[in-house]
Amino acid sequence: MSAYLPFTRPLIDEETIAGVADVLRSGWITSGPQVKAFEAALSEYVGGRPVRVFNSGTCTMEIALRIAGVGAGAEVLTTPLSWVATSNVVLEVGARPVFVDIDLATRNIDVARIEAAITSATRAILPVDLAGLPVDRDALYAIAQRHRLRVIEDAAQALGSQWRGRRIGAIGDLVSFSFHPNKNITTIEGGCLVLNDTAEALLAEQYRLQGVVRFGFDGMDVDLVGGKFNLTDVAARVGLGQLAHLASFNARRLALARAYFAGFEQCGIAELGLQLPRADFVNSNWHMFQVVLPEERLTVKRSQVMAEMHAAGIGTGVHYPAIHLFALYQRLGFEAGDFPHAEYVGRNILTLPLFPAMQEGDVARVIDTLNRILRAHARPGAARVLQNATDAR
Ligand SMILES: *Cc1c(COP(=O)(O)O)cnc(C)c1O
Repeated sequence: MSAYLPFTRPLIDEETIAGVADVLRSGWITSGPQVKAFEAALSEYVGGRPVRVFNSGTCTMEIALRIAGVGAGAEVLTTPLSWVATSNVVLEVGARPVFVDIDLATRNIDVARIEAAITSATRAILPVDLAGLPVDRDALYAIAQRHRLRVIEDAAQALGSQWRGRRIGAIGDLVSFSFHPNKNITTIEGGCLVLNDTAEALLAEQYRLQGVVRFGFDGMDVDLVGGKFNLTDVAARVGLGQLAHLASFNARRLALARAYFAGFEQCGIAELGLQLPRADFVNSNWHMFQVVLPEERLTVKRSQVMAEMHAAGIGTGVHYPAIHLFALYQRLGFEAGDFPHAEYVGRNILTLPLFPAMQEGDVARVIDTLNRILRAHARPGAARVLQNATDAR
């Protein structure tokens, strides 16, 4: 029996671990020179735009909304298929999330439906690049410009993804990334925000630490309510060590994603109705490899499939249930049936193992196991379709 295969696992090299030990011994462990160096490296990565780091990829978005002036009475257009942080931050600043259903092919917000959801209260669009597959930036920004809306990109999963040959973050309005351990690079916890100019960068620093501005040796003022969102130097040192591997990590993810497509094609699992992600080998950073189970052709639910995968030594994940069906959001007036695409995908999406240290043999094992489980639970009708397809070959 092979070792348990998790759906993701961070990879920290020995040089970074030694670097963290150095920071711990240095006498300066909270925000300091490592944070400055990490911000400079990230800024260089996104073509010189200002970047500030924070202690999560959630507060980065909350702060971006505040910088964009989004508050009470405002509506923010976003996707119902994301980590709940995406819409929680909208509530946190006192605004209202307005969901727009997803496109089944990309599983991202359906850009073609955005304009119909714009009202006189709309102030911003908050798109999410699910699994690292970028939302169409041309269509998105055309709408934003036409309606004078700010865009806060929840690019938490999209570091290293690109649009028309340019890195996500190097283009666009306010762009937020996360460095949670599941993301393509990590600071353990953390995130960063790409800003438009030094004025926005100064505001970000204020919101990050109690609204404080400093001048001279002893000057200090506070003119807005900020929080406590600064990243430690220990975390920033982890991030610097990780950023050096981002390109090779993402290249490895791409190779493994290609292996998934080839393997799934070979075993004919598509006949069962399993939906694969969009085969984008150019723009996506392959943050996740997610399939959508064919619920109408299976006699069991996703949880049973996950339990059987787990029993076979393979971890899977759910990213994500539809946000508007959570109790908090139902209390705000959302209900089942509002966003049928997001609901279907939210019930059936399954994240398969994908991380840089994985091997091609692991991919084959995941596919074989899932193939066996899905065929064992195919509805009789679905099995016949399958049998015919097999006979025909
Ligand atoms: C990870 C993630 C976040 C939040 O990031 P944290 O660093 O965990 O706060 C927000 N949105 C999406 C889509 C994410 O995947």
